[in-house]
Amino acid sequence: MNVNQSAPPVPPFGQPQPVYPGYHQSSYGGQPGSTAPPTSYGAYNGPVPGYQQTPPPGVSRAPPSSEAPPASTAQAPCGQAAYGQFGQGDVQNGPSSTVQMQRFPGSQPFGSVPLAPVVSQPAVLQPFGPPPTSAQVTGQLAGMQISGAVAPALPPVGLGYGPPTSLASASGSFPNSGLYGSYPQGQAPPLSQGQGHFGAQPPQRSAPPQASSFTSPASGGPRMPSMTGPLLPGQGFGGPSVSQPNHVSSPPPQALPPGSQMTGPPGPPPPMHSSQQPGYQLQQNGSFGPARGPQPNYGSPYPGASTFGSQPGPPQPLPPKRLDPDAIPSPIQVIEDDRNNRGSEPFVTGVRGQVPPLVTTNFLVKDQGNASPRYIRCTSYNIPCTSDMAKQAQVPLAAVIKPLARLPPEEASPYVVDHGESGPLRCNRCKAYMCPFMQFIEGGRRFQCCFCSCINDVPPQYFQHLDHTGKRVDAYDRPELSLGSYEFLATVDYCKNNKFPSPPAFIFMIDVSYNAIRSGLVRLLCEELKSLLDFLPREGGAEESAIRVGFVTYNKVLHFYNVKSSLAQPQMMVVSDVADMFVPLLDGFLVNVSESRAVITSLLDQIPEMFADTRETETVFAPVIQAGMEALKAAECAGKLFLFHTSLPIAEAPGKLKNRDDRKLINTDKEKTLFQPQTGAYQTLAKECVAQGCCVDLFLFPNQYVDVATLSVVPQLTGGSVYKYACFQVENDQERFLSDLRRDVQKVVGFDAVMRVRTSTGIRAVDFFGAFYMSNTTDVELAGLDGDKTVTVEFKHDDRLNEESGALLQCALLYTSCAGQRRLRIHNLALNCCTQLADLYRNCETDTLINYMAKFAYRGVLNSPVKTVRDTLITQCAQILACYRKNCASPSSAGQLILPECMKLLPVYLNCVLKSDVLQPGAEVTTDDRAYVRQLVTSMDVAETNVFFYPRLLPLTKSPIESATEPPAVRASEERLSNGDIYLLENGLNLFLWVGASVQQGVVQSLFSVSSFSQITSGLSVLPVLDNPLSKKVRGLIDSLRAQRSRYMKLIVVKQEDKLEMLFKHFLVEDKSLSGGASYVDFLCHMHKEIRQLLS
Ligand SMILES: [Zn+2]
Repeated sequence: MNVNQSAPPVPPFGQPQPVYPGYHQSSYGGQPGSTAPPTSYGAYNGPVPGYQQTPPPGVSRAPPSSEAPPASTAQAPCGQAAYGQFGQGDVQNGPSSTVQMQRFPGSQPFGSVPLAPVVSQPAVLQPFGPPPTSAQVTGQLAGMQISGAVAPALPPVGLGYGPPTSLASASGSFPNSGLYGSYPQGQAPPLSQGQGHFGAQPPQRSAPPQASSFTSPASGGPRMPSMTGPLLPGQGFGGPSVSQPNHVSSPPPQALPPGSQMTGPPGPPPPMHSSQQPGYQLQQNGSFGPARGPQPNYGSPYPGASTFGSQPGPPQPLPPKRLDPDAIPSPIQVIEDDRNNRGSEPFVTGVRGQVPPLVTTNFLVKDQGNASPRYIRCTSYNIPCTSDMAKQAQVPLAAVIKPLARLPPEEASPYVVDHGESGPLRCNRCKAYMCPFMQFIEGGRRFQCCFCSCINDVPPQYFQHLDHTGKRVDAYDRPELSLGSYEFLATVDYCKNNKFPSPPAFIFMIDVSYNAIRSGLVRLLCEELKSLLDFLPREGGAEESAIRVGFVTYNKVLHFYNVKSSLAQPQMMVVSDVADMFVPLLDGFLVNVSESRAVITSLLDQIPEMFADTRETETVFAPVIQAGMEALKAAECAGKLFLFHTSLPIAEAPGKLKNRDDRKLINTDKEKTLFQPQTGAYQTLAKECVAQGCCVDLFLFPNQYVDVATLSVVPQLTGGSVYKYACFQVENDQERFLSDLRRDVQKVVGFDAVMRVRTSTGIRAVDFFGAFYMSNTTDVELAGLDGDKTVTVEFKHDDRLNEESGALLQCALLYTSCAGQRRLRIHNLALNCCTQLADLYRNCETDTLINYMAKFAYRGVLNSPVKTVRDTLITQCAQILACYRKNCASPSSAGQLILPECMKLLPVYLNCVLKSDVLQPGAEVTTDDRAYVRQLVTSMDVAETNVFFYPRLLPLTKSPIESATEPPAVRASEERLSNGDIYLLENGLNLFLWVGASVQQGVVQSLFSVSSFSQITSGLSVLPVLDNPLSKKVRGLIDSLRAQRSRYMKLIVVKQEDKLEMLFKHFLVEDKSLSGGASYVDFLCHMHKEIRQLLS
C-alpha cells in the first residue's frame, strides 16, 4: 500500500496535529471544528520530544556520508569481502546473493568467469581498487568473449546447468533477434555495433590465464576451463560443450538448495535448436568460451524465437536455454527487502542526505527539518561536488516535487505561519524564505542566508536570543525554523494587482452533441452533478465551499446559463459567434451552490431533455475554453474548467482540427508530429488561461481519433488533468467515469500558482517537467495544481559544491487556496555532496531516476525520432553503469555485469520505459493512446511511474484466504503465472484479473458463481457479489488497489488462452513484447554489451 497514492475521496487534509496544539492547521478539506482563522505560532507548546535530538538546523550539519548506508546496502560488504575469496562469479545480487556465494568455495575465478553473473554491489569508498592480476584480466577477457556483452546471470545454485552455449547464443543473437523489431527500417538498432565486436574483440592483455587451460578467444578454438576446484554438489558441471554450439540439452537433475527457487516443473528435454537461428553463427566463430555454467532456462535468446519465455508454464516444455530469471535482480525482491527493512520505523527527516524508503514501502514520516519524501524525492541524495564528476557519472540530478501531496492521516499537514503585515521573512538578495538552514549570527541580530550567504538583518519583531550552540531559543516553536515543510500566509504583496483574490470558481462545460447524448453521457453527468456539487473542496471546516459554479453546454455553438438564485427557472443564452467569444452574462452565471440549488437542479434536469433529439454532430473546442476563461476573467477570479468532450472539433471555429492521424508515420522521422499539437492556437489560448489562473480539466469520450495531442495542450499547460474513456457506454464505463469525476471535483487545488526552486550556491535548477507553463527560466506557472501533480526539476552545477555545507533546495509555491486565501508553501531539503563517485552511487534512488528518465524521454519524442530517444536512454543508462563499473566496483571480470546496489533495477525498469506504448507502440495502441499516456506520465509521481512501468502482479489463491494482507507480488512475466491460480495485475491505469485454465472448480464457483472455467465470461468487468471468503477477499483487494491510485482502474477479467489474453500479456513487462520490446534478460545482456563497449 502506497500512502502517497492513497486517495481519500473526501477531506484529504485536516488531520489533528497533536504535537503543535497552538498552530493553526492548514486544514484542507472539511475539518469540523477548526473554523478559526489561522493564528500565529504563539501558542505553541514547545518541541515534541523527538525534536530534541534534531541537530540544530542551519548550524550543525552532519558530516558527509557519516550516516549509515541504507539498509539495502548493508549486506553488500559481505559480498565485497568475499569477492576475492570466491571468485567474481560467485558474487551476485540475485535473490539470494551471499548464501549462494558461499556454495562455491572451491570454484576458481576462471571457472566462474563464463557465468558472468550479474552483480550488484554497493559503491565502495575507494573507487579505484587494486588492478586485477593479469591472470584475472585474461580470465575476465575470456569472460567477455564468452558472455559477449551478455549479462548472463549466475545460475542459482543447484539449478541444472546445461551446456554452455546459451550465453554466446544470447549475446550473438541479440542484434539480429528482432527484439528491436520496430526500429525504423534501414536504421541499425543501437546495439548493432556489438555484432562484429565479438570476433573482432582483440585479446587484450593476453597473459595466459593461470588456472585455466582454455585457449585464447581469438584463436577460435574451443576453450575449456580447467576447474581445479572440486565440483560442488548440485553444480552439475556439464563440461565444455562448445563443440556443439547448437546443441541444447536439458539441465541435469539437480538437488535444489534451500532458498533457491524453481519456478516451474522441469519439463521434458528442450527441443534441439538448429543453426537456422542466425545468432548461432557467432558462436561458431569460437566466440564463446570456457563452459562452466550452462544456464538453465535461458531466456529466448534466439532470433525469431519470440515466443520463448512467453509459453504458458507447466503444460509446455520449459523454454530451452534460459538465463535463469531468478538470478538477475528482481524488482519484487528489492521491494520486499525494503518493506521488511524500512517499513517498520518512521522515516525521520532530521539527517541530511538520507535516502528515504522506496515508494513501494509503507512508512510514516516525521518532519525534523527536511521535507518529507512525499513532497520531494531526488534521484540522488548525494550530489557530486563538481560538474566534472557529475558529467562522468551521467546520473541525472533531479528532484520530483509534489508540493501539495496528500498525506496519510497519521501525518500532519504543513502548519500555517502568519507573520502578519510584514509577511514571511526572506533573504534580501536571493529571496529565499526563512528556513531551518538559515544561520543566525551576532547574538541573533542577523542571519546568514544558507542559499546565497548574504548577511541579513533580523527585523526587531523577529529577534530572538541564541543558545550556546548558536541556535535560536525559539527554534522549535517556529515551524519555519524547525520543519522541512510549512506554509506562510501571504500578504497582499503576493497577490495579483495587489488585491487579495476572490474565491475560485468551477465551470462545467458539457458537450451536448449527438455522440454525447446518444452514449448516455449527458444524462449521467447531469444526474451526478446534482449531488456532487455538495462536495466541492472546502477549507478550514467551512460549512460550505467558497467555490462558485457555472454551467455551459455546447456543440457548434455555446449555451450559457443564468442560474441566479432569484430565478424560478434557469435561462439559456446562446452564443453562436464562436470566432469572437464573449460571455453574454455576468450576473447569475457564477453562483453559490446552496443559494442557487433549486435553479441548478432544474437546469441539470432539463439539459438532457433539451438536447435529447439533437442531430448536431459537430463540435467546437477552443471557443469553449476561451469562454470559460473569459468568464473567470470577468468575475476576477481563478478557477477550473471541467470540460466533457466527445469528438474532434471540426466545426468552423478557432482551434478547428482535422484528422491527421497517420500510423504510417510510426518509426519515421515524422513520428514526432503525432505528439505535437497540429495548431499553435492552443498554446496561445493556454497562455491566456495561465495568466487568468484558469485550469482546465478535460474528460474525453472519443469514439475515434480526437487528436489528444492537440486537445490536451491547454490542460497540460494549465496544470489540469486529462481523462479518456474511449467508446464510452454508460453501462460499461459509468463507474470509472463517475469515480474519476468525483475525485477530480473534490480534490484540493491550489490556483493561480507560481513555483520557484531555489538552490544553494553551486547548483541551480535548469530544466522542468510537468503540467505547467513557463514564461521565463525560473518560474513554474500553474493555473492550478492539485495533490496528484508533480513537477520534476533537474539541476546542474554552476560551481563547485562543498562536502561540508552540502546542497540545499527550497521549493516555494505561491498559490490561492480553495477558500481564496493566498499562501506560500515551502519545502526544504538538504542533500549531501561528495568527492567520491561511490557516494553518489550509494545514495541514488532508481525509482526516481526512472521517473525522470521517462519524463525526459517522453518530452524528447516531441522533437526527436523515437528511435533516437530510445538510444539516448540506453546510452545514458550504460554510461551511468559503466562509470560505476570503472570507478567504484571491485575489480572483477569484465564478463560480469556489475550493478550498483541502489541501481540494480535500473536495467529492468529502463527496459519497461523503452518498450512502453509511447516509445515502442504495439499494433493495438492508437495515436491518441500514446499522446494520452505521454502527457499523463509527465505529471506522475515516483510511485505512479514505478507501478505504471512495472505493473504489480498479485497471485490470489497462493496465500491463505484469511490472510488480511496483500499477497506478495510476483514478477511480471508469464512464467510466473501458474495455470492453477488467479492473479490481479495493476499498473495504476489498468486492472486485470487473470484466470488460469486449471483453476479449481471451487475457486471458479466462489468468485464467478459459475461451475466451470469455460463458463466464465471473458472481459467481465464486475465480479459478482458473493458471500464467501474468497469473493470478499478478492473484491476487497480490488477496492484497496483502486483506493491507492489516483484514477479508477476498470477491471477486465482475462481467461488463459483467451483472445483478451494478448492485452494482458502486454503488461508482463519482463517478457519479450509483441511490439518488439526486449525481454528483461535480453535487455540486460544488451546493456552489458553497451557497458563493455564504453569500458573498452
Ligand atoms: Zn539568500
